[in-house]
Amino acid sequence: LIELDRAHLVHPVASYRGHEQAGVRVLKSAKGATVTDASGHQMIDGFAGLWCVNAGYGHDSIVEAAARQMRELPYATGYFSLGSEPAIRLAAELADRAPGDLNHVYFTLGGSDAVDSTVRFIRYYYHALGKPTKDQFISLEQGYHGSSTVGAGLTALPVFHAGFGMPLDWQHKIPSHYAYRNPVGTDPQAIIAASVAALRAKVEELGAERVAAFYAEPIQGSGGVLVPPAGWMKAMRDLCSELDILFVADEVITGFGRTGPLFACSDDGIVPDLMTTAKGLTSGYVPMGAVFLSERVYGTIADGAGASAVGHGYTYSAHPVSAAVGLEVLRLYESGLLENGVKAGARLMAGLRDLSSHPLVGDVRGRGMLAAVELVVDKARKTPLPPAAEPARRIFDRAWNNGLVIRAFGNGVLGYAPPLCCTDGEIDAIIERTRRTLDQTLE
Ligand code: PMP
Repeated sequence: LIELDRAHLVHPVASYRGHEQAGVRVLKSAKGATVTDASGHQMIDGFAGLWCVNAGYGHDSIVEAAARQMRELPYATGYFSLGSEPAIRLAAELADRAPGDLNHVYFTLGGSDAVDSTVRFIRYYYHALGKPTKDQFISLEQGYHGSSTVGAGLTALPVFHAGFGMPLDWQHKIPSHYAYRNPVGTDPQAIIAASVAALRAKVEELGAERVAAFYAEPIQGSGGVLVPPAGWMKAMRDLCSELDILFVADEVITGFGRTGPLFACSDDGIVPDLMTTAKGLTSGYVPMGAVFLSERVYGTIADGAGASAVGHGYTYSAHPVSAAVGLEVLRLYESGLLENGVKAGARLMAGLRDLSSHPLVGDVRGRGMLAAVELVVDKARKTPLPPAAEPARRIFDRAWNNGLVIRAFGNGVLGYAPPLCCTDGEIDAIIERTRRTLDQTLE
């Protein structure tokens, strides 16, 4: 398998030659929070795949829901005025639970195309309003919004930009709220004030009549699990209303119990104008994403388009099998999984905070089942781990050998996003195996 992979399967994010040298790691099976590789080595999946298998692996009821739908109706397009029962029911169930009046749902295949879709919807919205000049988009440094061309431009990670003239000329960034290394210090109110001032300044610079929307993740995931201070989302939401620009919450990682509730925006007590989700929506069993649109945004597009259709859609939008899985996953979340996630998340955060005294740990942050440990070589100076001396891959490998899958970001940040089904024992094992991995890294 390793030879076949080397010869034929492309893994762009893994750096081509480095990946070929190290060889692929092949997973064979999984149950609950445990994954098993091709050699039989068992690990706790501390990252739920790619922060997506929120429900955990091996739920027969999900498999049955998919199989039933495949037998009955494996495909119906959501492209034209056609549909299927599971897609319609899932849209209704989601609208019922979404914050505020986010009552209209557009299904995609994942997160990147959900983000792309918001850009198209927003442009249609402003055309319908007779404000076509509002075509500039702002997002945050350290943000991640996908790797499609539009999404990658909103994403702030340079590795996604090289060679493409990105970000595109209508995509702009303001600094992140990243508290551990923030030029304004760690005071929450100062961080909020700095973000408010930065967005205000960027909108003034571009001209409010040209700015369409501001994008933020409730917690920045791929940038290193950066949790904004309490009140940050609300301050930015309110500022967007004041400046007459739309606020888009990208909940692709934070949605579906990752931080506790079904949507992290509920923690923040805000209602965005649009919201993107994916990952936990189908818990990784099949691909699906969903864009939520407020009454105002959807209604304006629908009225503005009048009798004509607006051109947007994917062959697999509103896929009935994905929707059937989404319905079953939602039922599982609400039959105890969300509750367990809250309990397990508190234990995870407490356990990781206990690691703060470890000589390599500079910062521990997170909320619920979404957390990170930032490693440093000098705590007082917050000196990052030298990437050449301790490549993320070596820490990842050590954790793997210790029976733990984590995400080791290149900048010395270890990411955690375990399945919500974790038992106390599994959470304790995640902490213990992390401690062992850090001790081995010190040696
Ligand atoms: N937005 C956010 C916040 C994400 O974390 C991701 C994926 N990590 C995406 C969008 C893109 O989703 P996908 O990989 O499903 O296209």
